[in-house]
Amino acid sequence: GKAKTKIPQVAQKPIEKTATQALTPETGAALFEDARSRLEDVFKVLDIHPDAQARLMQPSLSLQVSIPVRMDDGRLKAFPAWRVHYDTSLGPAKGGVRFHPNVNQHEVTTLSFWMAVKCAVVGLPYGGGKGGVQVDAKALSSLELERLARGYIRAIADIMGPDRDIPAPDVNIDATVLGWMIDEYEQITRAKAPAAITGKPIALGGSPGRVAATGRGALQVLDLWSERTGRKPEETTVAVQGFGNAAYHFARLASERGYRIVAVSDSSGALYNADGLDIAAVKQAKANSGKVTDSDAGSAMAGAELLALEVDVLVLAALENQIHGDNVNEVNASAILEIANGPLTSEADQALAQRDVPVLPDVLVNTGGVIVSYFEWLQNRAGEKWSEKQVNERLDTLLSEEASQVLTRAQAEGITYRQAAYRQGIERIAEAITVRGNCQ
Ligand code: GLU
Repeated sequence: GKAKTKIPQVAQKPIEKTATQALTPETGAALFEDARSRLEDVFKVLDIHPDAQARLMQPSLSLQVSIPVRMDDGRLKAFPAWRVHYDTSLGPAKGGVRFHPNVNQHEVTTLSFWMAVKCAVVGLPYGGGKGGVQVDAKALSSLELERLARGYIRAIADIMGPDRDIPAPDVNIDATVLGWMIDEYEQITRAKAPAAITGKPIALGGSPGRVAATGRGALQVLDLWSERTGRKPEETTVAVQGFGNAAYHFARLASERGYRIVAVSDSSGALYNADGLDIAAVKQAKANSGKVTDSDAGSAMAGAELLALEVDVLVLAALENQIHGDNVNEVNASAILEIANGPLTSEADQALAQRDVPVLPDVLVNTGGVIVSYFEWLQNRAGEKWSEKQVNERLDTLLSEEASQVLTRAQAEGITYRQAAYRQGIERIAEAITVRGNCQ
């Protein structure tokens, strides 16, 4: 008879998904559950194919690694790190890398989910991705930071690439770090591959306009909403939580546009001036001492006080979970603009909706960064160089079209801006999942 060839049964080993106890504070798990509850809200009201619903409840790929770094004093430290692809039905995973002491598995997963939604909201041909290293980057020397950045790329090189997953900047990562990262990637692949990372230094194929893009896009959404609701910049007071890259460029451009920025903050506290802050002066102080509260452009106040200011627009441009069930009642602003990812918990979100405080959501407001990342990737692939003017014009055109659709939909359907944005994004992702077919 026919000899039977025995096919060895190799157990399918899932990629490690569970971080060790010490690395996953409970708040991290809650963050992902909270994000998923918003997804379930959308499933309740939209006709999303069950296959797509099933796919969207969990990340498609999650990698946890340990990055050994030889410190300047000769000791070896190992930093836990992650890269997650949430969903890649629309295109390669796209999203930044974050260096922060609180980074954990759940946070990176949640951020990758938000990336998937935001890329779809503005119609980019990308899925969602995110990475992070649990590290206090500010405590590292420049050489230690370079070793860490290169080690991270060595660890994730197998799951990245211009058609697979394209890392970019996020909290505590700038063009300098991304320059080391792209160099490491090109050494590993032994080929130039500028489209593998966005937010690079201009000299390595970075795009003009990328650094200011998130702030610029956020201002554009604010402008669009102000026009529709009959608000004039000169009559609008704004408090900004944060003074990192996105917050600074937003504050700078918004104050040039005529908005009155009465407060900004960082981890040292807040700086307040009822007549409007001189943003260039605050930036100078921040560059000198690292603290906005050292500036004499205004008077210092506690960070929590900024969140309670009676202003027309409260801009949240720091980190996630800043307004939650316990402090949402202290908010006195007439509207909220989310530049950070996930600055409101869903509990705070619901409380604000009940009080009719409009919230312009992260997944629309902060897309300027990833949109210009997309332009950078396009330039790299085509071997082109666009001028800053070209980049800004294309950003303005793309974002105003997609943002208008979200604002119009919210009004037409009597839903919040966040619900409208999620519907727009999830519909597009679900369509891509569905037309890919159901049998793998
Ligand atoms: N980290 C940014 C974000 O959260 C930018 C991501 C990118 O450019 O890919 O949207």
